[in-house]
Amino acid sequence: MSHKIKYFLSKNKIIRHFLLVFFFNFIFTILPLFPTFAFERNYDIQHIKLKLDFNEQKKSLSGEATISLVPLIEDFSFFQLHAKNMEIREVKFPDHAACSFSADSKKVSIQLPFSFSQKDTITIIISYYTVPEKGIYFNKADKNSPYRSGQIYSHSEPNDARYWFPCYDQPDDKLTSEIIATVPENHFLLSNGRLISERRNRTERTKTYHWRQDKPHSSYLISVAAGEYAEIKDRAGNLPLYYYVYKNQKNLAPNSFAKTAKMVEFFEKIFGYPYPWNKYAQIVVADYKAGGMEHTGATTLNDYTIHDKRAHLDRNSDDLVAHELAHQWFGNLVTCKDWSHLWLNEGFATYSEILFKEYDAGIEAAQYAIYEDQKFYSEMTDAKFHQPIVYRDYRDPEDMFNYIEYQKAGQVLQMLRHIIGDLLFFKSLKTYLSQYEFQSVETKNFTNIVEQIANKDLNYFFDQWLYHGGHPEFKITYQWEPDTKQVLLYVRQVQDDSLGLVPEVFCMPVEIEIIGQHKSISQQIFIDARNDTFAFSFASRPVNIRFDKDNYLLKKMDFIKSQDEWIYQLLNDKNVAARLNALTQLEEDTENSLATILAFERCLLNDPFWAVRREAAYLLIDYNRPQTKEALVKACADSHAKVRVAAINSLSNFYDKKYNPLFRKIAENDSSYKVISAALYALSHVEDEHSFDFFSKFIDMDSHNDIVRSAAFHSLYYLKDERSIPIAIRFASDTTQSNYRRTSALSLLKNVGVGNADVESLLIGLLSDSDRYVKKKAINILGSFKTEQSLSALKQLQETELSADIKRRLRISIEKIERGLGK
Ligand SMILES: [Zn+2]
Repeated sequence: MSHKIKYFLSKNKIIRHFLLVFFFNFIFTILPLFPTFAFERNYDIQHIKLKLDFNEQKKSLSGEATISLVPLIEDFSFFQLHAKNMEIREVKFPDHAACSFSADSKKVSIQLPFSFSQKDTITIIISYYTVPEKGIYFNKADKNSPYRSGQIYSHSEPNDARYWFPCYDQPDDKLTSEIIATVPENHFLLSNGRLISERRNRTERTKTYHWRQDKPHSSYLISVAAGEYAEIKDRAGNLPLYYYVYKNQKNLAPNSFAKTAKMVEFFEKIFGYPYPWNKYAQIVVADYKAGGMEHTGATTLNDYTIHDKRAHLDRNSDDLVAHELAHQWFGNLVTCKDWSHLWLNEGFATYSEILFKEYDAGIEAAQYAIYEDQKFYSEMTDAKFHQPIVYRDYRDPEDMFNYIEYQKAGQVLQMLRHIIGDLLFFKSLKTYLSQYEFQSVETKNFTNIVEQIANKDLNYFFDQWLYHGGHPEFKITYQWEPDTKQVLLYVRQVQDDSLGLVPEVFCMPVEIEIIGQHKSISQQIFIDARNDTFAFSFASRPVNIRFDKDNYLLKKMDFIKSQDEWIYQLLNDKNVAARLNALTQLEEDTENSLATILAFERCLLNDPFWAVRREAAYLLIDYNRPQTKEALVKACADSHAKVRVAAINSLSNFYDKKYNPLFRKIAENDSSYKVISAALYALSHVEDEHSFDFFSKFIDMDSHNDIVRSAAFHSLYYLKDERSIPIAIRFASDTTQSNYRRTSALSLLKNVGVGNADVESLLIGLLSDSDRYVKKKAINILGSFKTEQSLSALKQLQETELSADIKRRLRISIEKIERGLGK
């Protein structure tokens, strides 16, 4: 696609144009405006230039969209653009000649004064005003974080660009774009592409930013994000990287973004295609509707991802950062043609998270990530409704953004990689990217390339995994025949195929490993029947059989094995998923067996991978045995914070006072916020004479997402100690605190403050609080006071309150007091 802009019309056409404007205006006033017909794209947009003027107070914007397009048909004189709930003020040509148009709540229809051909490039300018319901978001003021206030940012995917600019709002047209927008002088505005200019308007005390995206992309990727930011510069080779975070969080940015350069270099290498855009910027915004959005070269992320060094022990931003970065190739450079092929964006980005994990954190971390995606899919999947990955019958494109297009599709790529091997898999990605760069694609564009590169008919694979729903459900048994020295493996597929949505048979190669006391064999079988039996020569009774030993298959598996075999698998299997599955099976089949408990304890203390140790810690919660408790005490000092959290949880379940000194030591010394919170929750199980003083120490500790303070409030709540009242009053009355903290404090007062005069006067004061959650909570608690004073305060509010929800609460509390007072 060419993305050079030609301006408007040849000279003789301009003359004709003037003659015709009058004629068309005439026709438009007397004829029924436009015949109704389905929206059909008969043009190819080349470029869009948006001049945006935001009104933060009104949450509105006035815009001017200059759109250049080339007809896709001969005799082109009429076209339509998506424009949702816009007041279209004017449509004109660059020479100011007006153009006829009509607009409804969904689109603007433009009638050109004469016909154009496919050789022409037409430019029109649309002036509009809108109060966008979606697409652009004006962030509300946040008294706790001045930097969150006044942000303006966009989120258009899948089809919300039409709410903030007129456009062709589907992913199958690519165009270059420009944004010119003005923000307060202390704000920064990020958009796609190159910064052409940044102009200070001294008298208005504003700044005007002009950004230009020179390589074509789809309209849903056009972005703005503005607010008060600190800029951090970085590089990946020659590529400039930028991170925009709040000014008070500049030192925290590396916790989330430090690996970006490593990711860029890794993806460039593994995808076989250089990073496609001129820069890569990441900016955080408050209350974003997603974790992140991969705007071309300018990803927007939820500010929740920023965290300090201590929180870094509990979480990281790697998956999110890798996902949005991988979209710069899969999604932005090569884009799904319509949302039925969404997996070409989301499945690839999701699988790229695992690719980076394998590279950065090692094979076990990747195995665990695969296990987690498989598990997430299994938990979400609904046997009655098996939607295929390539799915046309969605009601709203928004519905496509689900576990099928993300986790399942990612797993399909993982299976494909396993089947054709790394060399051919990555060669296919490279060929796909270079063949379809800056284009929109559908599934067969990808699958054809894979088949060519692999030189293999993979129709069976793509058909069952992409065009059918579900997954194989295996029932597997085996027996060893001492006479013939053979292992007979019986593999049945039992998935419900009655509705025709799920394949009767999933065909696939599967790696089998038979493990004996002294010798093991590995062999690949190919499954292509609903019932199959496979025979293997094997001299002795196996100690375990691994079906799908690398766990590459998305499947449900019911493999009948003995307790010994599961224990062997738990303590020896090289694959994290196999060990986790062994834990689950042992818990289901042989709960309370000493051998199982011993195996869990060994696993808790010795497994090389933290997630397996963590799972063992959770499963040991029910075993009230001195040795189990000893193992859990040891695990409270595990090197991984998540294992420590699980061990503390399980240990606290024994409600034994003797662990309180341990929990207190952990709360005071551990560096992980989650571990500290877990210790506080644990301490709330069995109180002692130190409890109040100890919990109140943590009430002022700041932590990511406020988890430590929440745990302290929770613990004080269960303590029911009246000494908590002044603490709770301090938080509830402080309007600079978040409503979450204030309502937590109020919950505490409900527990210990009813009847207290100071609490009552605080609550009466809060009836006029500007925060509705605080106000509702105060009304609710006052209902327990049963005093004339509370009753009259509530009745007074009842006379002026407008919100139906709050009125309902008032009624309930008033009735409650009246009953209490015997009225
Ligand atoms: Zn994504």
